[in-house]
Amino acid sequence: MCAGMALQWLTCGRADCPCAKDPQSRHGPYIYWTSKEKGRSVARLLHSPEAQILAKWVRNRQELEKALAAMKKLSQKALKVVLRMGAETMPKQTWQEAA
Ligand SMILES: [Zn+2]
Repeated sequence: MCAGMALQWLTCGRADCPCAKDPQSRHGPYIYWTSKEKGRSVARLLHSPEAQILAKWVRNRQELEKALAAMKKLSQKALKVVLRMGAETMPKQTWQEAA
């Protein structure tokens, strides 16, 4: 893993806390700064209010990347369809002349 931000939702370990049973009730997000040091991945918990803002950015970026990936997939599909249509509608003569 390369350097970056990681979000985690944690259980506090108390049996009477909702987080013990419901993953949706876990505490967080806790924001970690992750990096690699001497071959080991290190995660540092960030406490500052800025970290909360950063966490929002990270999540936004994850959403953005998801959307981009979906768009890329879609455009590849669309490209295939367009190429196929192009080949079918292309006048045969043009093909022969070009060859
Ligand atoms: Zn808890």
